[in-house]
Amino acid sequence: MPYPDPVKLLVIGGGIAGASVAYFAAQAGLQVTVIDAAEGQASRVPAALLNPVRGQSGRVDPRALEGLQLTWQLIETLSRQGHAIPHARSGLLRPLPDDRTRQKFESGLPTDLPHHWLTPDTSPVPLAGGWAHVLHLPDAGWLDGGALTDALIKASGAVRRPGRARHWDAQTVTLEHGERLQADAVVWCGGSRGADWAGLEAVHRAGSVLTLDRPASALPLSYGAYLIPAARGGVLGATFEAPSARHHAGGPPLRSLQWLLQKGAALTADFSPTVTGLWTGVRLSGERSGRQPGGWFALSGLSSKGFLLGPLLARRVVASLAAERP
Ligand SMILES: Cc1cc2nc3c(=O)[nH]c(=O)nc-3n(C[C@H](O)[C@H](O)[C@H](O)COP(=O)(O)OP(=O)(O)OC[C@H]3O[C@@H](n4cnc5c(N)ncnc54)[C@H](O)[C@@H]3O)c2cc1C
Repeated sequence: MPYPDPVKLLVIGGGIAGASVAYFAAQAGLQVTVIDAAEGQASRVPAALLNPVRGQSGRVDPRALEGLQLTWQLIETLSRQGHAIPHARSGLLRPLPDDRTRQKFESGLPTDLPHHWLTPDTSPVPLAGGWAHVLHLPDAGWLDGGALTDALIKASGAVRRPGRARHWDAQTVTLEHGERLQADAVVWCGGSRGADWAGLEAVHRAGSVLTLDRPASALPLSYGAYLIPAARGGVLGATFEAPSARHHAGGPPLRSLQWLLQKGAALTADFSPTVTGLWTGVRLSGERSGRQPGGWFALSGLSSKGFLLGPLLARRVVASLAAERP
C-alpha cells in the first residue's frame, strides 16, 4: 500500500541488494536515493545462475522457490518495460558423480520443486565421462547480474549519488567529503567491499570466472564448477580461494586457472572454447537483513544467492520498514 506522504529513504550500495531495495521502496511510494561507491561490486558477475539447489551439498534454502519465482517475474516485468536483461530460463543440469551424492541431493529436494532425473546418456548436452546421474532443474537458468541490477535501479527512478558513505545512523548518512544527507530511514547494502570498509566482522570469499568466446554448453552445467552461457560467449567459474576475514580483490594465481580449466573439461564432452578474460568478485557470507542495533536497516551477506534471494529479501526489508515506521 502506498505511503500517505513521501518518505525519504537512503540506500547505501548499488549492487543487487541495494537495487532491489530501491525498486520495492519506490513501488511502495518512497523517495529513494542510492549512494554507491561502485567498487568491488560482486553483482557485476558476467553470468550468474538462478539455482535453487546449492553447491555440492544439494541443500535447498526454504525461501529458494519463492525467490526463484520472484526474480524471474521481475526480469519478465522489466523486460516488458524495455530493459535489456540477457537471461534464459533454460533449465540447469547438475551432473552428480555417484549414487551417494544422488541420495544426498534427493533427501533435500522439496516435492514442489520441479525436477527430473536423467542419465548421462539422456542428458540434452553431451557430458564428459565419469558422471553417474544428472539432476535437471527446468525452472532454473542464468542471467546477466549487472544488467538486472542496472534495470532495477533505473526502473526505481532513484536519485543516484556516486561516492562513498563514511558514517550512517537511523536517519543520516555522511558522505566522504563531509556532506550530510537526511532521510526517514537508511538501508545499508554494502556487500563485501562495504563490510570491510565498515569494519564489520565477516567472511569474504573470492570467486573467479573465465569469460569464454562462446558458451561451452547450451544449457548451464554445475557441479564443482559451472559453465554458463552469457550475453557475450559464456563463462566458466568456481569458488576455490580460501575464505578470509577481509575483502581481497586480487585475481587467482595461474595454477588456479589451470585447475579451473580442468574442471570445465570435466563437465562437458566438447570443451574447447577460447578464454577471453578473467573476472574476480568477492562474496560476503553471513546474511544480515532487517533493522540493526543502530536503528538503520541492512540487506547484505547474500553469499552465492544474491540473485536467488536478493529481490525477495529486499521486498521483506521494505515491508518491515513500512511496518516499523513511527
Ligand atoms: C564469482 C561469483 C559468482 C557468483 N555467482 C552467483 C550466481 O551464480 N548466482 C547468484 O545468485 N549469486 C552469485 N554470486 C553472488 C552474488 O554476486 C552476490 O551475492 C551479490 O552480488 C551481492 O550483492 P550485494 O548487493 O550484496 O553486494 P555488491 O554487489 O558487492 O554491491 C555492494 C555495493 O555497495 C557499494 N558500497 C559498499 N559500501 C559502501 C559505502 N560505504 N558507500 C557507498 N557504496 C558502498 C560497493 O562499492 C558496491 O558497489 C556470485 C558472486 C561471485 C563473486
